[in-house]
Amino acid sequence: MCSIGGGDFNIEIEKMEVTRYECKDCGNKFDSMGEKVVCPSCLSENVVVA
Ligand SMILES: [Zn+2]
Repeated sequence: MCSIGGGDFNIEIEKMEVTRYECKDCGNKFDSMGEKVVCPSCLSENVVVA
């Protein structure tokens, strides 16, 4: 990620609880949030936290 001088911008980013996931079907790695996570590439629900 790009960091421009730090400051309050970093706080807003940390508020977003984005989790890194990996799809076990197609191997796609993506960031998502929430309880119901599906792969954006193949729409599979077979994903795990990377
Ligand atoms: Zn997938």
